[in-house]
Amino acid sequence: MNNINQQEIIDRKIVNDTTYNLVLCKDNGMKMKLWIPDYLMTNAKADENNRKSAEQNVPRPTSPQKNISSLEDKVNQIYSQLSRANDTELLELQKQIVKLNLKDLPTSQKSEINTMIVKMMRDYKTTQKTSPQLVQKLRQNILREEMVNKRRDQLSVLFCLEKEINLVAKCRKKITVENFVDLELLPFDFSYINANIAGADVSFLKHPPIGCDCIGKRICLLNNCCPEMFNSQPTYNEDGQVMIPSNMPIYECNKNCKCSKSCANRIVQRGSNIKFIIFRTEDHEWGVQAAQSIKKGTFVVEYVGEIVKRNQIDQFHHEEKQNHYLFDLNFNKEDCLYTINSWKHGNISRFIGHSCAPNLHAYSVWIDSSDPNIYHVALFASQDICNGEKLTFLHKNTSVSNNCKCDSCKVIVFQF
Ligand SMILES: [Zn+2]
Ligand SMILES: [Zn+2]
Ligand SMILES: [Zn+2]
Ligand SMILES: [Zn+2]
Repeated sequence: MNNINQQEIIDRKIVNDTTYNLVLCKDNGMKMKLWIPDYLMTNAKADENNRKSAEQNVPRPTSPQKNISSLEDKVNQIYSQLSRANDTELLELQKQIVKLNLKDLPTSQKSEINTMIVKMMRDYKTTQKTSPQLVQKLRQNILREEMVNKRRDQLSVLFCLEKEINLVAKCRKKITVENFVDLELLPFDFSYINANIAGADVSFLKHPPIGCDCIGKRICLLNNCCPEMFNSQPTYNEDGQVMIPSNMPIYECNKNCKCSKSCANRIVQRGSNIKFIIFRTEDHEWGVQAAQSIKKGTFVVEYVGEIVKRNQIDQFHHEEKQNHYLFDLNFNKEDCLYTINSWKHGNISRFIGHSCAPNLHAYSVWIDSSDPNIYHVALFASQDICNGEKLTFLHKNTSVSNNCKCDSCKVIVFQF
C-alpha cells in the first residue's frame, strides 16, 4: 500500500472531535483494517489536488500542507513496512494467537493504535522526526491486531461449522472442532452426511435373503442367529464388543429378523456412541481424537461416503491426496467393484488419519444389503484407547505407499 488510493473506507467514527476512518488496506494478498484519522485521509485528496495543480503549473501551497503530506508519506511508509513483515515473524505471531480461544483473545488495540498514530503525527509536526521505537511498536500492534481479528473470524466460522456438523450428525455425543495450530478452516467443498449415499449408476438393494427367528433381546448373541446362517460366527459379546478378527465378515440382524431393534446383534446400525474432537495436527492436517477412553472391541464409527464404481474413479483424474479418501469395498477379493469416496461427502471418519499401526480396525458389515459387494465399513477399537488419543486406521489406498509418513513409519535415525 504505497499510496492511499489503494485503501477502502468501510466505517467512520468520531472520537474527541476527530473523525476516524476504518480503512481496509490491501497489499500482496494481505488485508489490514486500520483506523486512520480523517485529516490524513483529507490530505490524501489534497495531495492528489496538489499533484494535479503541479501538472497544471499552478504554484503549490506551502506549509502547513507540506508538513502534513510528508507526515502522510511517513505513515504510508510505515504501512508499506507492515506489509513487508517477514514470514517467520508472522508465523511466530500466529503460533501465539492460534493457541487462544475466543474468550482469551486480547481486546481490540484499535484505540491504542490510533493514539500512537496521532502521537507520531504530533511529534512529527513539532520535531520533523519519528521515533523508530514508536514506529516499531505501532507496527507490532497493527500486526497483532490483524492476527487477533483473523483468529476471531476463524473461531466464529469453526463454531458455525461445528454446529452444522452436530445438526447433521445427530450423534448421541457432541462432536467438537478445534484448531490450535494454524488459521485453517474445515474444507468448504465437503458436506457432512450420516449414511452412505449412492453415486452414479449405483443402487442399494435392500432385500436381505434371510433373517433370524430369535425373540428376546439377548438371544441373538447365540448360535442359530444371523451370523451363523451366513456362515460366520457370533460377533459381539454381551457388552457389544466385537470378538471376531477384522478379516471375518459381520452379519448384523436385518429387517427380516424377528428380534427387536435393540437386539445385541445390531451394533453398527444403531450408530456411534463416542465423543469425538476433530482437531488440527502439528503436521497441519485434520485429525480426530477420542474425547473419552474406549475399550478394545468397541464400535467407534462407520466409514461413510459416496459409494461409486471403482472403474469410474480410475477414469477421472484424481489428485494423489484424494486417494486417501477412498475405501475400496474389496472384501470379496477377486473383484473390487465399488469404493467409498469421502472426499466430498463423509462423516467424522473422513478426518481420521492413516497409520500402519492403527488403533482402529475396519470391518466389513452386512445389514440390509443384498449385494455381496456393497456393505458397510465399520471402525472398531483394536486396542484400549485413552481419552485424548489420536484415532487412526489403515487407509487402504496409502498402505501400499513406500514413503508413508504416518507416525508408526517415521524412521528414527540413531547417530553415534
Ligand atoms: Zn437373532
Ligand atoms: Zn437380532
Ligand atoms: Zn437376525
Ligand atoms: Zn505408515
